[in-house]
Amino acid sequence: MRARTKHVRHISLLTLVAMATLLFPAAGLAITKTQVEEACANSRAQLDEYRAAQAAFEDAARAYETAVLEVDRVERKQASVSGSVTSHTEELDQIQAMIEDQAVELYMRGGLASPGIIFSASSVDQFMTTSEFLTTAATGGQESLAELIAARSELNRFQVVLDDTRVELEAVEAQKLTARTNQESAMEAELAAYAKLEGRCKDLAVEYDRQQAELAARARQRAAGSVQVGSFICPFTPGRTSFIDSWGDPRSGGRAHKGTDLFAAMDEPIYAVRSGRVSTGNGGLGGKSIWLAGDNGIGFYYAHLSGFNVSSGQTVSQGQTIGYNGNTGNASGGPPHLHFEIHPGGRGSAAVNPYATLAGACR
Ligand SMILES: [Zn+2]
Repeated sequence: MRARTKHVRHISLLTLVAMATLLFPAAGLAITKTQVEEACANSRAQLDEYRAAQAAFEDAARAYETAVLEVDRVERKQASVSGSVTSHTEELDQIQAMIEDQAVELYMRGGLASPGIIFSASSVDQFMTTSEFLTTAATGGQESLAELIAARSELNRFQVVLDDTRVELEAVEAQKLTARTNQESAMEAELAAYAKLEGRCKDLAVEYDRQQAELAARARQRAAGSVQVGSFICPFTPGRTSFIDSWGDPRSGGRAHKGTDLFAAMDEPIYAVRSGRVSTGNGGLGGKSIWLAGDNGIGFYYAHLSGFNVSSGQTVSQGQTIGYNGNTGNASGGPPHLHFEIHPGGRGSAAVNPYATLAGACR
């Protein structure tokens, strides 16, 4: 019974693989998990280590994304509360000015014995509570005092929230820093584990991952169009970058992620994924960025670079170093990474999920 189930499962996996091969002939011969395990029989421990490191990096990368969103949320809260403190301070100032006017008016009308009572009072509070003002000003003075007390209590309330928010922000920033460190260690561990894989085991494991990524990406129907990019190379030296499929993940300001973040060492060389013409940009969310108009009409966008190795308008050949990995733009303060997009219809057209394409080229 057990063997039978296993057999059936085996067939369905084969069917799936066969279907995948038919549907995606560009992916080449589909590889089964069994084939990977056979090829890696002599380096089982290394493969396990690599798989564990991949999973750990994925977790660390997700934790970092969450931490970044948390900081963003608390920063927004702080800005909003800070705005309330400002507006309530203004309101309080207005009430105080109104009371001072009332006092001056009273004095001018002879209601107050001397102006000294205004000018000798060290604060509006002290002046307000003098029995002379209260009795003379009668109802008007009482009302102003009530208003002053209410406004002050509102302001105090917002100041307490602002102080709490400051503490909360420090906490989430500390979490973000820890998450960043964890992600960097996880990236190093994954790259080291990858480097230990050997020969056919490495080739098959990587091709298997690529096929799985492509199947998963298509199953989720995340790709808005087909990613027939033609000749394509990894923007980093294969094996020197770690990344996960973060297409559509939430980003600050309610945006959705429209690319893949490839993590690598600071200043790691970045290559033209195919030949074409580059234009450089500087500023905004992307920081130092490059648009590569591929010679086949496909657009590739590179963001957060530390520097350029090309000038705008230059023609580049595939594999040419065009810039260096960094954390400019809204990646500032975060782990250095290349935000990479593929626009099949060229610049200005919609982006598609580049993950499967990258997974195939970068390992
Ligand atoms: Zn990104």
